[in-house]
Amino acid sequence: MADPQGFLRIAKKEARKRPVSERVHDWNEVAAPQSPAERAAEVSEQATRCMDCGIPFCLSGSAGCPLGNLIPEWNDLVRRGRWSEASERLHATNNFPEFTGRLCPAPCESACVLALADTYTTGSVTIKRIEQAIADAAWESGIVEPKPPMISSGCSVAVIGSGPAGLTAAQQLTRAGHDVTVYERDDRLGGLLRYGIPEFKMEKSVLDQRLMQMRAEGTRFVTDCEVGVDVTVEQLRGTFDAVVLAIGALRARDNPSVEGRELGGIHLAMEHLVTANRECEGDGRSEITAKGKHVVIIGGGDTGADCLGTAHRQGALSVTQLDYNPELPMVRDESATPWPAWPMVLRTSPAHAEGGVRRYQVAVQRFLGDEHGNVRSMVLAEVQVTREGGKRTITPIGEEIELPCELALFAIGFEGVDLGPLLDDYGLTPTRSGVLSCGPDWQTTAPGVFVCGDAHRGASLVVWAIAEARSAARAVDVYLTGASDLPSPVHPMSLPLAVV
Ligand code: FAD
Repeated sequence: MADPQGFLRIAKKEARKRPVSERVHDWNEVAAPQSPAERAAEVSEQATRCMDCGIPFCLSGSAGCPLGNLIPEWNDLVRRGRWSEASERLHATNNFPEFTGRLCPAPCESACVLALADTYTTGSVTIKRIEQAIADAAWESGIVEPKPPMISSGCSVAVIGSGPAGLTAAQQLTRAGHDVTVYERDDRLGGLLRYGIPEFKMEKSVLDQRLMQMRAEGTRFVTDCEVGVDVTVEQLRGTFDAVVLAIGALRARDNPSVEGRELGGIHLAMEHLVTANRECEGDGRSEITAKGKHVVIIGGGDTGADCLGTAHRQGALSVTQLDYNPELPMVRDESATPWPAWPMVLRTSPAHAEGGVRRYQVAVQRFLGDEHGNVRSMVLAEVQVTREGGKRTITPIGEEIELPCELALFAIGFEGVDLGPLLDDYGLTPTRSGVLSCGPDWQTTAPGVFVCGDAHRGASLVVWAIAEARSAARAVDVYLTGASDLPSPVHPMSLPLAVV
């Protein structure tokens, strides 16, 4: 049983970060290094704040963790110092807790019963930090071992895409005894974990250690292979008994109509992040760099924040992030997003804490160029955003302002799955929101072809990619063998209480 008074005695303590002056000069994770003993002591104390509240909203799919992570159980095990059992309970619901422990925005924490009150310097249990500590300690102590299947089903599965959804589906299906091949069109594995999310949020060695485990379990990987082009759908049909489409929703939104968009130095956010991540992988200097430039990021979301942190590390002169929405409040608006729903509040990521300016209720009107055809400034206007019948209108209302800008990055979202021969040859048409629909068994209209992750949900989160892929893997297992022992944490129609 948990300590029912731990939260009264122990104050919430977040993980320490390295000083800004140090971390903006390297690409390593922002967390301050800790010895295993120091980490164990701090995290055990924090886990004691979990009171095992009886109705743990933290693990409920609609408000908290879509994976149904057994949070009160592993909090109590950590409190008692039973770290290897905590790891076993953590891995029971999550293939890759070292990813979510670093990257998840943690809907579990906003749904924690302690997040209801802010007395006793409280707030939620630091669930995400505890999760990362359990996962890291497990890797360090060597207890995360390959789990190859005991028997082979004789069935084969192709997984298209090696992001967190593809990797999860592949691991689940390999462990269930199927012969799994993952196809990835990039030269390296990991999807957005590799080329979207910057090193300072998750070092790639964390991904590589999992890939080693998966190879040792028997999953096969083929890189530099775009399915539909390098391997045809016809070839897949002749080789595999089932196919999982985990192709992400990587079609980036652009704004081609804005005057001056064609000038040099204006890019999509992902172009910037991919080249920066490639530089970290040792592929040579990034062609798109913020070094010595005034940078403007169009889009106030998380992708924009990743560009912000990247630009600072590249040596930008200044970085401004624009958002056409008003600034969000610092505290939860109970009438709009009551606890335990995901609150619409102003979030300050570690990248924001490193500098830069955030400007709200503004939108780019045009770009101005220099004599070489490169952008030199942008003109902004204050705007008002109105929504009627699902349609958004952005109206300039204030004076125009000119900002110096030698690198502009569009971080304004994603429009859905990439179109091309893969979908054409399966006869699949994306929905109006650009994603692939499926039945309650995760199967698309193409027989034996399943979908999960961002390709199904639209641009979302790592935790949802893992949750959907675990469920889709079970559906594939049932399709192939008639039954399955694999878990299914979410339904294809599951939505969080507020969209995260
Ligand atoms: P992806 O990760 O997009 O992987 C899809 C893969 O499919 C890609 O590797 C692609 O190359 C491959 N592919 C596509 N078509 C083919 C084909 N025909 N043949 C072969 N391969 C193909 N979420 C968080 O929870 N926390 C974060 O901090 C966070 N940060 C983010 C930062 C950025 C910049 C972005 C863009 C997203 C971020 N996300 C974050 C969201 C998260 O990364 C995604 O929700 C998640 O990666 C989706 O996983 P997925 O496997 O469905 O797709």
